[in-house]
Amino acid sequence: MMTVMGFDVALMLAGALEASREGAIARRTGASMRPSHRRAIASTPCARARDVRARVGSGKFIVGGNWKCNGSRASVRELLRELNEGALGDNVEVVVAPPFLFIDDAMATLRKPYQVAAQNCWVEPGLVDPTHHYDSDTGAFTGEVSAEMLEDLGIPWVILGHSERRNLFKESNEFVGKKVAHARYHGLNVIVCVGETLEERESGKTMDVIFAQLQAVADEIDDKEHSSWGSQVVIAYEPIWAIGTGKVATPDQVQEVHAKIRKWLADNVSEEVARETRIQYGGSVNAQNCADIARLSDIDGFLVGGASLKGEDFVKICNASSVHYKAVGRARK
Ligand code: PEP
Repeated sequence: MMTVMGFDVALMLAGALEASREGAIARRTGASMRPSHRRAIASTPCARARDVRARVGSGKFIVGGNWKCNGSRASVRELLRELNEGALGDNVEVVVAPPFLFIDDAMATLRKPYQVAAQNCWVEPGLVDPTHHYDSDTGAFTGEVSAEMLEDLGIPWVILGHSERRNLFKESNEFVGKKVAHARYHGLNVIVCVGETLEERESGKTMDVIFAQLQAVADEIDDKEHSSWGSQVVIAYEPIWAIGTGKVATPDQVQEVHAKIRKWLADNVSEEVARETRIQYGGSVNAQNCADIARLSDIDGFLVGGASLKGEDFVKICNASSVHYKAVGRARK
């Protein structure tokens, strides 16, 4: 159970900050601000205290279901049926990522508000492109699927940089950064995964690892049209030691990393982007533990693996959005 001393105070501060922000700062509606337009950090008591807990995002709670390489035609149909029958709240954005072969079925079957994501897309790794758009993803690349194809089929989202791709397929930070920029260039919304191994955590390198992963994305997103941060880029913090292991990060561990990621965005991209970027937690989230994590101020959603294959459980996890809004003290989106 999660009742950490001082946590309620943090939630109160977060709620107050959010309320003052919403009143005082007009919401941006267009493309992300360029770095040159960075704004000074609001001089609220929370900001002055540099309390990492006070950096609350303003985006809609978002839950992703990563089906990975699972499913048969029959099991996918059953899962789609369960999802459609689930009573999903209207204060959450939900994106499911079937294997490529089942995306069409999912797009044709799922009712609103479900959206669909690919689990990966391709860009030529060695290509050097000063425009950062790397518009060379179709051609002699056997076995790959291009961002251009996803765009053509109207697939709105793609997951990039999942730790399984980074580790099993040796995708470097730079490669992931290129993929993100290229996917954005094709108008795709991106969930980009970051996270540390147990060894890295134990040797105190968690934030160094994550910041390097983020920097590689920041180096490629040029904030020009169709290649911007903001609500179209979601960061999924997924500690590798928590993925598929049943070992969930503690709420304090999650909150600390999320707040530091948000601060990094404020310092290295813009305050605007820090506020708008949604940060998901992923790693053994299930229907039982989701509420405890959803209460945290800097958690804007989840990326779910195993539990996303059980329709009823996944819908419960999505509906933890209500717990989040109540806890952080702001009206639902
Ligand atoms: C994932 O692979 O993105 C993930 C979070 O998996 P799980 O929920 O099974 O830990």
